[in-house]
Amino acid sequence: MGFWGQGPQRWFCNFCSEAMKTITIFGATGSIGQNTLDLVRRNRNDFKVVGLTGASNIRQLAQDALDLGAEIAVTADESALPALRDALAGSGVQAAAGQNALRDLAARPVDLAVSSIIGAAGLAPSLIAAQQGTTLALANKESLVCAGPLLKATAQKSGATILPVDSEHSAIFQALIGEDMAAVERVIITASGGAFRDWDTADLAKATPDQAASHPNWNMGQRITIDSASLFNKAMEVIETKEFFDVSPDKIEVLIHPESLVHALVGFSDGALMAHVGPPDMRHAIGFAMYHPTRADLPVQRLDLAQIGQLTFRPACEDRHPALRLARDVMKNGGLWGAAFNAAKEVAQDRFIAKAIRFTDMAAVVEETLTQMSSDSGLSVAPQDLETVLHADQLARNVAAAVKV
Ligand code: NAD
Ligand code: MG
Repeated sequence: MGFWGQGPQRWFCNFCSEAMKTITIFGATGSIGQNTLDLVRRNRNDFKVVGLTGASNIRQLAQDALDLGAEIAVTADESALPALRDALAGSGVQAAAGQNALRDLAARPVDLAVSSIIGAAGLAPSLIAAQQGTTLALANKESLVCAGPLLKATAQKSGATILPVDSEHSAIFQALIGEDMAAVERVIITASGGAFRDWDTADLAKATPDQAASHPNWNMGQRITIDSASLFNKAMEVIETKEFFDVSPDKIEVLIHPESLVHALVGFSDGALMAHVGPPDMRHAIGFAMYHPTRADLPVQRLDLAQIGQLTFRPACEDRHPALRLARDVMKNGGLWGAAFNAAKEVAQDRFIAKAIRFTDMAAVVEETLTQMSSDSGLSVAPQDLETVLHADQLARNVAAAVKV
């Protein structure tokens, strides 16, 4: 058994002798990853970076690994290994590549694993990290959408704690501290409405990938930004809410809130509605998870509500946003429907980005994929292990790629 089999190494700050949290960040070169690293850099005495992962952006991955003294940098792209090795040569930072290297890193015990790869590719690291009993800061909502029951059962068995990083779920989590779940009447998550919130529904078919990838309030990766415009991101978050908090789907509501300041609200049996209000800056939710159970002094803007003046809300219409209706079907059917839904959505988005289908066709591709797969009884089984989930994911990708719209 190697060194890492002995349990997390304890690191101490040279200046104050306080224990440092060992941390690995999956998807370190992305939007969530870079925000996480910003917090690590501002608090270098609080964290010891063990591993960083990326895919194509080798320059960024190597630069961050060197700057933060990571033990290992892993790229998902095997062909990029020589470039990563070159960039890290002589530094003592180990370079590795490929799916097995990602999984090996996830199996290294650390105090905190940040799961911030985009898409279903984030599921394996989430699951393997949870198997180690690690605290998992979960930005990768796909892990819960594709395999919520499996991830939760895995964490329960190992004693791992899962903390939300998605802003809405961090907000719900904070509103629930000290509360009794039996008294929760409803959970409301908000949506900015994305790039096209003020467009006529009839114009949505003409929306281009560049237009969809520009968010009015949040600065995020390209894929989640497009998902915000189609409300597929919110649809995923409704499922994420059900899985994370074990709330029944009929208690979950979505409101369009163009200011993106109230991230979620929890309604209780006595009529109280607890809202979480904060600036649209992911460093709040990330920092909350990084320092949980304490609260740190985070570099986010303090809101001046008098200057903001008003907060507005309106209902999210399921006719205009079919993704929300599809999420309800997915929750009703359970099993591997979430994995198929997410995979079909990823393929539909690829097709939209490639300008092969229209913006509004994405939901049609997902719906048709689920319709075609509904006769496959294999989808109704609960996600048992990673392989079962990845199999359903692959089947849905094949179907979604062939759907004609
Ligand atoms: P991003 O596209 O900016 O970054 C994705 C990261 O994953 C990058 O490091 C990239 O190299 C890596 N990656 C991409 N494909 C990969 C693959 N096949 N295998 C391994 N690594 C791969 O994405 P993001 O916006 O940071 O989002 C990451 C996750 O966090 C998503 O699940 C998203 O839904 C969630 N999230 C993001 C935000 C946000 O503000 N960006 C907010 C809430 C939740
Ligand atoms: Mg969110």
